[in-house]
Amino acid sequence: MSSVTVTLLPGDGIGTEVSSAAKEVLTETGVPIEWEVVEAGEACIEKYGTPLPEHVLESIKRNKVALKGPITTPVGKGFRSVNVTLRQSLGLYANVRPLRTLENVPSRYTNVDMVIVRENTEDLYAGVEHKVGRDAAESIKIITREASERIGRYAFELAKRQGRKKVTIVHKANIMKLSDGLFLESIRHIAESFPEIVCEDKIVDALCMNLVQQPEQFDVLVLPNLYGDIVSDLGAGLIGGLGVAPGANIGEDGAVFEAVHGSAPQIAGKNEANPLAMILSGAEMLEHLGYNDHASQVRKAIDSVLMNRALLTKDLGGNAGTREFAASICKAIQNLS
Ligand code: NAD
Repeated sequence: MSSVTVTLLPGDGIGTEVSSAAKEVLTETGVPIEWEVVEAGEACIEKYGTPLPEHVLESIKRNKVALKGPITTPVGKGFRSVNVTLRQSLGLYANVRPLRTLENVPSRYTNVDMVIVRENTEDLYAGVEHKVGRDAAESIKIITREASERIGRYAFELAKRQGRKKVTIVHKANIMKLSDGLFLESIRHIAESFPEIVCEDKIVDALCMNLVQQPEQFDVLVLPNLYGDIVSDLGAGLIGGLGVAPGANIGEDGAVFEAVHGSAPQIAGKNEANPLAMILSGAEMLEHLGYNDHASQVRKAIDSVLMNRALLTKDLGGNAGTREFAASICKAIQNLS
């Protein structure tokens, strides 16, 4: 089997711990990956004067696939978000976040199985903001037909590929008639080419209530950037928390896999972070690369470790540390053969 080079960005805060756990678990499957480790985030600011040095972007462009730890974004000041810049400069237009309840992970729900498809390049994240005098500020929400049709097509194609039945377009077009109206209209147009898949739409506030009351009714959700960001965390809460929610940023020329969670500075360096979201993001990456058997080893090993609560991190009701949890998954992989 031919080997591939993957860029690994450990990230900030708990990033180094969870990405090293993920690398260890993926390596245990024997997958022929060469890791090109590059730093981005806080550690780079002093060294390079920017949290996202050019050579990091070059590495991802060259390898076309990256596994990325979370990167801290200072609130209300400092550099622009590395995460947003990375997605925009690499054209990673689709943020894909599968939400599936895992057996034995404490959660209020049992049958959640949906995918969030979030538009990743525009909306209020386009970074068009300015002050109006001293006491007012404006952020401009940008929605284009091109980007809306592109994310709509991605969502319907994903639904078709995965044998899913329904796509829900999420919006607030009753209030933002022009911008969200265009998002809705563009994706409805795309839906016409997929008659076998049910297309419905929901206003984002109603969607949040429905998600909490009956998440099982949803299959694929397609959302503009901001609602997608917020609903992703809500979705993580439905399946047991941020510690178990994986994700991917996909574009025409590359893909960056990363957990939904952030750098969790409160627990950084304490060996407390749950590495599962990052490991599951790694499994998604293996599938993207066509290493399906290796991904299946990772998923089977996770399922077996989840059966023993004592082997899990605190957030899942266990008492193991990040490293011990990852070591148990590695051991379970060895036991598969
Ligand atoms: P966060 O996801 O880091 O943390 C939210 C809560 O979840 C905290 O209580 C944290 O301890 C807990 N948590 C998160 N991941 C966990 C894990 N793996 N195991 C156990 N508990 C976990 O969100 P935040 O506090 O809003 O953000 C912290 C920083 O991360 C900010 O600078 C933010 O901008 C950044 N961030 C980065 C990304 C990314 O790189 N893609 C995503 C979200 C937030």
